[in-house]
Amino acid sequence: MILILEADLGEQSPIFRQLLTHLRGLAGIQFRVHREQGAEQVLNEIYLIGDTKQLRVEDMEALPGVEKAIRVSREYRMLGRHTGDQRTHGFEYNGVRFSQDNLHVFAGLCAVDTPEHVEQMLRALQDNGQVCARMGAYKPRTSPYAFQGHGKACLPWVFDLAGKYGIRVIAMEILHESHMDEIREALEMTGHPTGVMLQIGTRNTQNFALLKAVGRQQALPVLLKRGFGITLEESLNAAEYLASEGNTKVIFGLRGMKSNLGDPHRNFVDFAQVPVVKRLTRMPVCIDPSHSVGSRDAGPDGIMDIFHVAAQGVVAGANMVLVDFHPDPMTALVDGPQALLLKELPWFLEDVRLAREVYEERRLLATAQADMVESDS
Ligand code: PEP
Ligand code: MN
Repeated sequence: MILILEADLGEQSPIFRQLLTHLRGLAGIQFRVHREQGAEQVLNEIYLIGDTKQLRVEDMEALPGVEKAIRVSREYRMLGRHTGDQRTHGFEYNGVRFSQDNLHVFAGLCAVDTPEHVEQMLRALQDNGQVCARMGAYKPRTSPYAFQGHGKACLPWVFDLAGKYGIRVIAMEILHESHMDEIREALEMTGHPTGVMLQIGTRNTQNFALLKAVGRQQALPVLLKRGFGITLEESLNAAEYLASEGNTKVIFGLRGMKSNLGDPHRNFVDFAQVPVVKRLTRMPVCIDPSHSVGSRDAGPDGIMDIFHVAAQGVVAGANMVLVDFHPDPMTALVDGPQALLLKELPWFLEDVRLAREVYEERRLLATAQADMVESDS
C-alpha cells in the first residue's frame, strides 16, 4: 500500500512524526519513506510492505497528514499504475521535462570517437533545435578485441562540447557502477555544462548489483533498455529495482528482441509494446529504432526502415527516440552501418514530428469517442 502525504509536509513536522509513530505500531508492517521533489512541491510517499491486507484504505486515509492511500494492485509497486492511482508521472532533469505525455529525440553517436565528429554532431543538433543527444563512452562489445569506447578520458571534452552547443541531457551507457562515479566526477570537474541520463544497456538489464547501485543515487536519471532475451515483465521488474532503491527517474527503452523471426532486421522490433508499458507503469517509454533495425535499408517508397519503425513507435505514443547518427559512418568505430547522416537529421526530425502529430490527433479522437460513449449511457 502507498500513502501519499499532504504536499509540503516536512519530515520534521509533528504530524509527520505522529504518523510514523502510528505506523511503527502496526504489527507485521514495515514502511519506507520516499521523497519526490516535484517542479513546484515536495511530495512524500510512504510505502507499506508486509501484511497490508489487514489495513483498510479508509482507515489509512483518515490518518493525520495522509492525503490518499492506494492499494498496490500490481507487481511494480513504485513505477506501476494502480487502481485509483492518479499520481502525476514523469520528472524534470536539467530543465528538460520527461513524461508519458511528451516526446524528445536523442540523436547522436553510438560511440564517441573524435572531438571533430562529436562537435559536428552537436552543432547539427543545435542547428535543428535539439537539446538532447546520445553519446557512448563505454561500449559493451561482443568481441574483447573490438573498440571498447574511450571511457573516462573523453568525458571532459564531450561534456564541454555539449555545453557549448546547448545540449542539456546526454544519454550515455554505463557498464559498471564505477563509470557512474567517473561521469559524476567529470560533470563536477567541468562545472556541469550539460546533464547525463545513465543508460543501462540490454546486456545489463538484469545486472542487479548495477541496478541497485544506480538506483541508490537520485541525481542522474536512468534509461533502462529492456533485456533482449527476457520477458517484458522481467524487464519491468528490473526497472523496479532502480525505483526500490530510491531513483524513480526512470525511462524504459524498447530496442527489439534477439530473434531470427525479425530477420532481416537486427532485432525483432517490439514497438507494439509502447502502449503496454505506458498502461502497466508510469514510466516514459523510449524506442531505439537504430539498434532494432540495424541497417540503412529502405522500402520501395524510399523511406528507411529506421524511419518507418521510429514513426510506428511515435504514432503509438513513444516519449523518447534514441537514434544513431554519424558525420562519416564509414569511419565510425561502432555501428556505422546503421548510422544516419547529418544531412538526414532535418528529414528524420520532420518525420518524427509528423508521426507525433498523428498520435496527438488519435488521442483527441479517442477522448471524443469516450465522451460520446459516456453521454450515450
Ligand atoms: C546502445 O544504445 O548503444 C546499445 C548498445 O544499445 P542496447 O543496449 O539496446 O544494445
Ligand atoms: Mn550501437
